[in-house]
Amino acid sequence: MSHCDLHAHTNASDGTDTPAQLARGAALAGLSALALTDHDTTAGHDACREACGAVGVEFVPGVELSGDARGLLDSLGQDQPAQLHILGLFVGSESPELRSLCESLREGRDARVPRMLAALGALGMPVTLEEVRAAAAGAVLCRPHVAQALLDRAYVASRQEAFDRYIGLGGPAYVEKDDGAAAECIGAIHASGGVAVLAHPISLNCSGRVQLCAVLGRLRDLGLDGVEVLHSDQPAEFSRVVAELARELGLAPSGGSDYHGVVKPRRLGAMNVPVEFLEGLRARRPGMKEAPSTVPGA
Ligand code: AMP
Ligand code: ZN
Ligand code: FE
Ligand code: FE
Repeated sequence: MSHCDLHAHTNASDGTDTPAQLARGAALAGLSALALTDHDTTAGHDACREACGAVGVEFVPGVELSGDARGLLDSLGQDQPAQLHILGLFVGSESPELRSLCESLREGRDARVPRMLAALGALGMPVTLEEVRAAAAGAVLCRPHVAQALLDRAYVASRQEAFDRYIGLGGPAYVEKDDGAAAECIGAIHASGGVAVLAHPISLNCSGRVQLCAVLGRLRDLGLDGVEVLHSDQPAEFSRVVAELARELGLAPSGGSDYHGVVKPRRLGAMNVPVEFLEGLRARRPGMKEAPSTVPGA
């Protein structure tokens, strides 16, 4: 069976591979298609598309948008710390709607870092914004870059320790950023010609199947097209529940490794995502349903 990976990062956000290295990795892993889904940017698309072309891997232009979890979850009875990430697949990077949303999400990221640094300073671990920017090396500013700066200062013995003790969800130096309303993220993805997929539903931290079903139903009503059934952080039992809910709600299944390069122990292609998932998502692109497959009388 032919496999793909529909969730991967490069050094345009918090991964370590260049877009060309990612494409070559996809070929080495024997993948037939690869989606590049960096956080709040499409900066790696051109280089990755070109490199995918050279190695015979289908390039799926994507993005992972930061959604406002509280705005979605508070009214649904979920009051635990949560992350809402919405993937766009087949997005058009030139779309004004998508570009402007990504820009404002990146501004939210830039504004968050000084607040995290203030919290870290209060905990006795001063770090400068310049150190975090140096760790990011021009990429979109993400928490792993803060983790790297903490590691460089030897406040922690590993980036993971930085997350576990300080900057992970709900940690003492965790600071929420200004994220996009779910409807806004889904709308911008659709406006760009893409399909909207809920990333790693496990990070919604729902109390159980009933709550997860309510949240997925709300997102579907907002226009969500699909959901990640397969993801590196999701145990098999959780995946089974998500697959069932996707069927019940009419959401297309998706999946990916969420590969980040050497900073995380994840292998590109590890989830063995069947290409049928990709085809199901492709068929949901805006306008596809209306498009005739043959031209009558032509
Ligand atoms: P941000 O979007 O800047 O909040 O950073 C999110 C990224 O941080 C995720 O995509 C992961 O790469 C990483 N991350 C988030 N939580 C953890 C965690 N608990 N341990 C390790 N990495 C994490
Ligand atoms: Zn990431
Ligand atoms: Fe994510
Ligand atoms: Fe991701």
